[in-house]
Amino acid sequence: MRTRLSSSDYIAGILAGDRLVLSRAITLVESRLSSDQALARQVLELLLPYTGKSVRVGITGVPGVGKSTFIEAFGKHLTGQGKKLAVLAVDPTSQRSGGSLLGDKTRMETLSVDPLAYIRPSPAGDSLGGVAHRTRETMLLCEAAGFEVILVETVGVGQSETLVHGMVDFFLLLMLAGAGDELQGMKRGIMELADALAITKADSDNQAAAKRAKVEYQNALHLFPPTGTGWFPPVMTCSALTGEGIESVWNTIQEHQTLTTQNGHRTRRRQAQNIEWLHSYIRQQLEMHFYNQPGIRERLASVEEQVRTGTLLPIQAADSLFRPA
Ligand code: GDP
Repeated sequence: MRTRLSSSDYIAGILAGDRLVLSRAITLVESRLSSDQALARQVLELLLPYTGKSVRVGITGVPGVGKSTFIEAFGKHLTGQGKKLAVLAVDPTSQRSGGSLLGDKTRMETLSVDPLAYIRPSPAGDSLGGVAHRTRETMLLCEAAGFEVILVETVGVGQSETLVHGMVDFFLLLMLAGAGDELQGMKRGIMELADALAITKADSDNQAAAKRAKVEYQNALHLFPPTGTGWFPPVMTCSALTGEGIESVWNTIQEHQTLTTQNGHRTRRRQAQNIEWLHSYIRQQLEMHFYNQPGIRERLASVEEQVRTGTLLPIQAADSLFRPA
């Protein structure tokens, strides 16, 4: 058994950029044991002054759009400039399959052995909301460990992109050329969240289609109401295979960062995100306390039967459960 680290061991190790300690701290943050949770909170509190300095980027897109290939090329571009990069994932599929978005070792082969990059798969088998909390905390740990850019990857298939949008400075939506919006499972709402769109796989035979898609999406974005931040989400094309357009994605992120830092929007966005984090944590804790009450399963089972047969209204049933047994 490994020796248990104290909070000062965690702090010293993380601030020194020790990856082993960082990984153990993330595991601690992901743990459901209440003793671990108490220690994790202590560690996070002490590290708070060292957080917040990274560029936080969310990346989403349907499976097959080329997210991991893009992150590999984009990540290599950043580490090529000497930047330290952490890649995290919010993965709704892990709940179903038990597998993880980044769990497959063949993904991001080059980046995963890059000394400037740190890749952390998302915890499996938890509620999406829970995973998102841990991802936020993991992001803070990575920032304290000196990572300058944090990429949070998610599959664009549900509410996970809203969660990721709620924790990053810049939200990048990857799109395929030629595939209809419906095929991409894209709702207008997701496009509205994006700070930029990038049409992937703009190489060889696909280049013309990518250019057409770029114009189409540009026109579509023009119809959206202004973001109120002075930023107009651009549409780009890129290829992770040839590397074309990868640099301009990074340039765009930097331009956005400069603009929103100057006009104060970046700070306001992070403040609003913290408030939302507070409320969603409260909701999660309330739910946990409720379902952890002794005897609640039996009481639930009994009222569920009455609700099912229509002898009790759901509201009455809930009220009875809020009262002590
Ligand atoms: P993900 O599911 O979104 O992570 O997508 P992947 O990164 O696994 O890519 C899906 C497929 O698209 C793979 O077969 C990749 O080789 C291919 N692909 C990814 N990026 C590019 C690109 O820039 N150009 C071309 N031609 N193919 C790509």
